[in-house]
Amino acid sequence: MATNCKTISILGATGSVGLSTIDLIRRNPDIFQVRVLTAQNKVEELAALAIEFQIDLAVIGNEDHYGRLKELLSGTSVKAAAGQQALIDAASVEADLVMAAIVGAAGLRPTLEAVRQGNTVALANKECLVCAGDLMMEEVRKHGTTLLPVDSEHNAIFQVFEADQIDHISKIILTASGGPFLNTPKKDLLSVTPAQAVAHPNWDMGAKISVDSATMMNKGLEVIEAYHLFPVEVSQIEVLVHPQSVIHSMVEYGDGSVLAQLGSPDMRTPIAYALAWPQRMESPSPKLNLAQIGQLDFREPDLEAFPCLALALEALKAGGAAPVILNAANEVAVESFLNDKIGFMGIASIVEKTLSRLDMKVPHSIENLLQIDLEARKIASALIVEENA
Ligand code: NAD
Ligand code: MG
Repeated sequence: MATNCKTISILGATGSVGLSTIDLIRRNPDIFQVRVLTAQNKVEELAALAIEFQIDLAVIGNEDHYGRLKELLSGTSVKAAAGQQALIDAASVEADLVMAAIVGAAGLRPTLEAVRQGNTVALANKECLVCAGDLMMEEVRKHGTTLLPVDSEHNAIFQVFEADQIDHISKIILTASGGPFLNTPKKDLLSVTPAQAVAHPNWDMGAKISVDSATMMNKGLEVIEAYHLFPVEVSQIEVLVHPQSVIHSMVEYGDGSVLAQLGSPDMRTPIAYALAWPQRMESPSPKLNLAQIGQLDFREPDLEAFPCLALALEALKAGGAAPVILNAANEVAVESFLNDKIGFMGIASIVEKTLSRLDMKVPHSIENLLQIDLEARKIASALIVEENA
C-alpha cells in the first residue's frame, strides 16, 4: 500500500451511494485507504467490507447487531463499535475525506461531526442540509471544511459554478427526471404501488430516495440543498424536467452563457469527482453516447400533479422550522407508503397536514432542531394512524 494514499471513511457504507463509493475504491487500491465504515443493520456486509479493506473501525448503528459484529471481526485487527454515539465518534476519526452517505435526518449528527473534524466531506446525505442547512454551513465555515456535493445535480453545478463570477451568475437550473410517474395520469397516481414507485427509469438508488423521486419531493429537497450549498437567492433556483437525466444541471450567466455538466446517469461519476477532487480519476460509468440518445427533452414541472415539490418550495420560502418539519413528515410518510400503510398521494397530504400543525419558529440549536424533528414525526405518525382508523 502506498504511503501517500488518501484516507477515507464512509458513513452509510452498505447503501447505494456507499457501495458505489466502495466500487471505485476497490478499483483503485493504490490511491485510497479506508479507515472507517458504518452501517445501520447489514452487519454481515459491513464485516465483509471491513475485512476486505483492512479498516481500523467498523460501526453498526443498531446495537442489537453488536455481538454479531464482534464475532465476525474476532481474530482481525478491525475494532468494532455500535450505537448512535459510536456513529458520531466514527465521523470524528481523522480521515482525508468522509463520505456522508447515511439516508435521512439520522445522518445529521454524524455528518455534522465529520464537518467539525475540519477535513473534506463528500456530501450525499441531502436531508441533513434540508434540516440544518444554516447551522451546518456555519460549522463548515468555522472549521474551514471543504464540502463536496455528491448529489448528481449539485455535483454538476459545483463543476460549472464560477464562484469568482458570482455577480454574473443569474440562475442555477436543477434538472429533474420527473421519476417513474412523469407521464402517469393524475387520477392513476392514487393507486400506484411501492414496487412501481421504486422502479426509477434512469437511476438505481435506495428505496427512500426512489420514492422521493417518484413524488418529486426529491427535487424539492434538492432545491433546499442547492440554496445552502451555493450563494444564490431562492428566486435564482429553477427546476426543469429533463426525462433522460443526461444534463445533470446547469448554471446560467449574465452574458447568456449556460454551462452544463453531462454524463450517463451513474452515481459513480459524481462520486469519482468528489473522491479525486481537486484532481480527476477514472470511473467505470458508461460513457455518454449522444448520437445514440438522439434527443434531449425538457418541460416545466407540474406542481399540481406533484404537490410534494410545491410543498418543499413553500417550506424553503417559509424558512424557520418548515424544512425540518417537511423532511421529518416526509420520512415517516415514505416509510408508511413503503409498508403499504398509506397510498402514494397520502405522502403529500401527510406532509401538508403536519406542516400546518406545527410552529415555524427558527430552530436555535441542533438540539432544538432535533426536538422539532421528533415532534413532527409524532404528528405525522398520529395522522397516519388516524387515516387508517
Ligand atoms: P440507502 O438506503 O441505499 O443506504 C443508506 C445507508 O445509511 C446504509 O448504509 C444504511 O445502513 C445507513 N443507514 C440507514 N439508516 C440509518 C440510521 N438510522 N443511522 C445510521 N445509518 C443508517 O440510501 P442511498 O440511496 O445510498 O442514499 C444515501 C443518501 O444519499 C441519501 O440522503 C440520499 O438522498 C442521497 N443520494 C443518493 C443517491 C443514490 O443514487 N442512491 C443519489 C443522490 C443522493
Ligand atoms: Mg439528485
